[in-house]
Amino acid sequence: MQYELKCIGVLTSGGDAPGMNAAVRAVTRAAIYNGIKVKAIYRGYKGLITGEIKEFQTQDVSNIIQQGGTILKSARCSEFKTKEGRALAYETIQREGIDALVVIGGDGTFTGARAFAQEFNMPIIGIPGTIDNDLWGTDSTVGYDTALNTIMECIDKIRDTATSHERLFFVEVMGRDAGFLALNSAIASGSEAAIIPEKETSVAQLDELISNGFRKSKNSSIVIVAEGGGGAQAMADRIHQQYPDYDIRVSILGHLQRGGSPTAYDRILASRMGVAAIEALLDEQRSIMIGVVNDEIVHVPFSKAIKDDKQVNLEKVNVLQILSI
Ligand code: ADP
Repeated sequence: MQYELKCIGVLTSGGDAPGMNAAVRAVTRAAIYNGIKVKAIYRGYKGLITGEIKEFQTQDVSNIIQQGGTILKSARCSEFKTKEGRALAYETIQREGIDALVVIGGDGTFTGARAFAQEFNMPIIGIPGTIDNDLWGTDSTVGYDTALNTIMECIDKIRDTATSHERLFFVEVMGRDAGFLALNSAIASGSEAAIIPEKETSVAQLDELISNGFRKSKNSSIVIVAEGGGGAQAMADRIHQQYPDYDIRVSILGHLQRGGSPTAYDRILASRMGVAAIEALLDEQRSIMIGVVNDEIVHVPFSKAIKDDKQVNLEKVNVLQILSI
């Protein structure tokens, strides 16, 4: 082994996601199981700079697998984007005797981790924790399944009122640059269309749906709009101008999509990824994200996870279109 792995640091960073706690628990317990000390770093990279750190024992992660959010807190830290900020973070690493890091977050978190790893020859393993599911190389990210289920339940409720009043609803869901939540929640909720950033033609598809007269066969319609897909309000305004007679409503789901107890899928995924992160470190891996493909754990270089575009499955776009007649 090139370095002795006696102590790891673990942090959560960027947007919080349900299942992050399950990942923290798994990293902590898998490390201790292997005789490695665990230092929990609070508030993401910010805590690494300010030294907000606590050594964790197994009981520090008791009773958190079912909790949403992150007990380690998360923060956005612009200082870490600078060389000077990262140098301060490295001082903390040395002072605390941390040999390697496990970072739980999204592409911003891994971009920072990659720079830090290169500058200080630091072994870092990433666990994908984001509701957007926008990281290349993994079928799913921790938090995505929970958010998808939360959205589905919300749309089911919106459907009740939409049907009672024969309305056209535009529901905005999260996903800055990715339409995974929008497309899959649209299929799962039986929505009529999804406007996603990856597919410009979905706007044309919406026009077609509306000009065909959605009320002929249905007494309500729900269109899911990814926040990166133009915004539900803008879409509603546009349609209202074209079809002033339609009773249109907008619902922006917002932060409720991030919260809640993680689903079984996310808890299991986070648990497996946490154990895999420690095993990867023991195996002298570095600068990789743990992913899951066809239910098998995989290692994905940070460079690929961040840069390569993960495509939405066009077959699903087709499914939505066929089933929305
Ligand atoms: P996410 O990890 O969910 O994508 P952010 O994009 O907010 O969330 O990134 C989380 C943190 O990662 C940022 O607050 C910052 O500290 C760090 N980070 C993001 N981008 C970079 C970068 N280009 N260089 C260094 N650190 C970065």
